Amino acid sequence: MRLTRMATGHRLCRSMSLRSRGIQMAKILRCQDVGMKCDFVARGETEQEVLKRATEHAGATHNMKSIPPEMLAKVRAAVRDQ
Ligand SMILES: [Zn+2]
Repeated sequence: MRLTRMATGHRLCRSMSLRSRGIQMAKILRCQDVGMKCDFVARGETEQEVLKRATEHAGATHNMKSIPPEMLAKVRAAVRDQ
């Protein structure tokens, strides 16, 4: 009698290593942090996305057609993780 399998019905379920990190890596930028008296908060998944929104906002709300490099550096420094 060789076939002495334990018929428990359970197989070793491989424990999948669930890497559930970084699901919501949101970045935000407050207009205030750049020195504006404004409640606007730009959000995005990446810094680039945030900067894009911030640029759009600056154009639409603050009449800044382009953001000077100095300002951009300031803006980038003000981007933080949510
Ligand atoms: Zn603003």
